[in-house]
Amino acid sequence: MIRDEDIIRIEEPKLSLAERLYLPQILGGLWVTLRHVFKRKITVQYPEQRRSMYRDNYRGVHRLNKDAQGRVKCVACFMCETACPAHCIHIVGAESPWPDREKYPVRFDIDELRCIYCGMCEEACPVDAIELTPLHDMVGQSRAEMVFDKEKLLGVFDQTRDLKPPKNPRIVGYAIDNPDYQLGEGPGRVPLTPPLSPKSRGQGSGGRGQSESVPAPDPRALPPGKESR
Ligand code: SF4
Ligand code: SF4
Repeated sequence: MIRDEDIIRIEEPKLSLAERLYLPQILGGLWVTLRHVFKRKITVQYPEQRRSMYRDNYRGVHRLNKDAQGRVKCVACFMCETACPAHCIHIVGAESPWPDREKYPVRFDIDELRCIYCGMCEEACPVDAIELTPLHDMVGQSRAEMVFDKEKLLGVFDQTRDLKPPKNPRIVGYAIDNPDYQLGEGPGRVPLTPPLSPKSRGQGSGGRGQSESVPAPDPRALPPGKESR
């Protein structure tokens, strides 16, 4: 049972005439509006008006870059697919019809809705074939439409090559830059690995893969605790 002296009665505060007319609140609201009228506007009438963006490292829709001959630059190494944390890249590779690479992608799909635009694929690509572009306002009417295939990704390259030129200059100095270079066997073709000398073929008691030209380390020369067992 609650006693009367335990009950705390709270009285409504008395409002002044101005407060009862809501005048301080109205004037306060008008003051906030007035302050913003003279501030610099940051809203834009999108899509008619667009903000200028920092384009060099914006991570928007992907593109597959083309080389100087207009071929897809990708060599189907699967590095981007492996690095992708969202598992949204799917590549099918095949033997390349060109002599300067072993493989090329016959199929290259990116699920743009599943992608988290982290840029790991771009970082992983050894030939700068995949890049993220400043395009961010892509739309589609179905999920399937947002899975960009190879043709669509190459189309994004055509659309954005002026907006964002391919980031890195071409890497030169590899054998494939030599016009005489061709893969495979036959006269005039550059071997992929230098031929093994008789000494380095592991003749004698060393067995397979052990080279006579590289002597075994002297255990006395090794620091304590590092002796070979
Ligand atoms: S940006 Fe990230 S999530 Fe998107 S495809 Fe590349 S690696 Fe995958
Ligand atoms: S990492 Fe580059 S070259 Fe390798 S599969 Fe991906 S896009 Fe192609």
